[in-house]
Amino acid sequence: MPGGVNSPVRSFAAVEEEPLFIDSGKGAVLVDVQGRRYTDFVLGYGPHILGHAPQAVVSAIRRQLAAGISYGSNTEAELLLAEKIVQMVPSIEMVRLVNSGTEATMSALRLARASTGRDLVVKFEGGYHGHSDSLLVAAGSGAATHGVPSSPGVPAATAADTVVLPYNGIAEVADLFMRLGDRIAAVIVEPVAGNMGVVAPDPEFLPQLRRLTSLHGSVLIFDEVMTGFRLAQGGAQELYGCRPDLTCLGKVIGGGLPVGAYGGRKELMSLMSPSGPVYQAGTMSGNPLVMAAGLATLEQLSSQPPYDYLEKTGSAMEDGARAVLRQRGIGSAVNRVGSMISLFFGVDSVRNYSEAAMASRSMFARFHQQLRQLGVLWPPSQMESAFLCVAHGAGEVDQVLSALASYEPAV
Ligand code: PLP
Repeated sequence: MPGGVNSPVRSFAAVEEEPLFIDSGKGAVLVDVQGRRYTDFVLGYGPHILGHAPQAVVSAIRRQLAAGISYGSNTEAELLLAEKIVQMVPSIEMVRLVNSGTEATMSALRLARASTGRDLVVKFEGGYHGHSDSLLVAAGSGAATHGVPSSPGVPAATAADTVVLPYNGIAEVADLFMRLGDRIAAVIVEPVAGNMGVVAPDPEFLPQLRRLTSLHGSVLIFDEVMTGFRLAQGGAQELYGCRPDLTCLGKVIGGGLPVGAYGGRKELMSLMSPSGPVYQAGTMSGNPLVMAAGLATLEQLSSQPPYDYLEKTGSAMEDGARAVLRQRGIGSAVNRVGSMISLFFGVDSVRNYSEAAMASRSMFARFHQQLRQLGVLWPPSQMESAFLCVAHGAGEVDQVLSALASYEPAV
């Protein structure tokens, strides 16, 4: 396997460590193949808001497994999951289920281009929307971590149709719309950025994106693959009270199995085949095991919403980390929204990618190495969000805070 892994960030190259090989996970704990236990703040890069292997999800998968793995046909579980998504996400009236976040964003872009008859797409520097050609330009996450934010192999003509602006740069967005508004098919944005580390939107950012896209007849796409069902039942759009035209989902809605979804206003979504002419399909889309896991997860999130609890745990971690780092005189920015949190070292504040990129990678690597030695697993790049889940409590937060209290930033 290239680099020994199936997804680049798993190599741990950015933190100069050996990659991890996991044997099992339960709740907030991962156990590696050598039997070492870690309190996990990676959580599969986002899906495990209920912790690893929650009973309800495991039982649902078991029940489905006994009835078959995949049929290439429709099942009731697909209807139930689609209904749940429509009920819980304010702007979604109709939804299509796919197999990954990459598929969701790629298909949403195609739909936006088809519905507007325009080609240009606006994305934000450091935003990661999966690895399709149109969106692998100035991308965050592993692409930024490994020094290839704009990948070779993306045709120049495709990249030329993607306009990249700074996150939170509403003046730049307004200026672009003034010049090229009638050519812009879509603006795609992580409503809370999570792939340059966590960066919250400025108060006017999302409302202004909504206003400008509506004014110019462009489609506003919220990529909520990470934030969907994580920040609130209805994702960031519920938290910030801003409705996009299309929403992309993934991660949490599959309960840890491969999944994606895109949805939005009915008249837009009805353009998708077979009710309309825009083509997108998938042998595995709506796979019954994935539906069972996703439905069990969303049912638990709606019957026992964990969001207040996660906010409390998150703010304890944020306040505690800030206090320890300030007291120790270690320059840092602690960014958090709900159960997504990032630590940047050697900078005072981070509100876009260029500020995130100024943070000290070597200080972060040492932080990561020292945490790992103490049995705490943090994402292996400061361009990734750390996540909290319902299985984290005061003890797990204290583990991170006491690691910070003994953190040695220099060798
Ligand atoms: N969009 C966002 C915001 C993501 O964080 C990710 C993955 O991390 C994706 C899209 C791509 O999803 P997937 O890895 O399932 O293709």
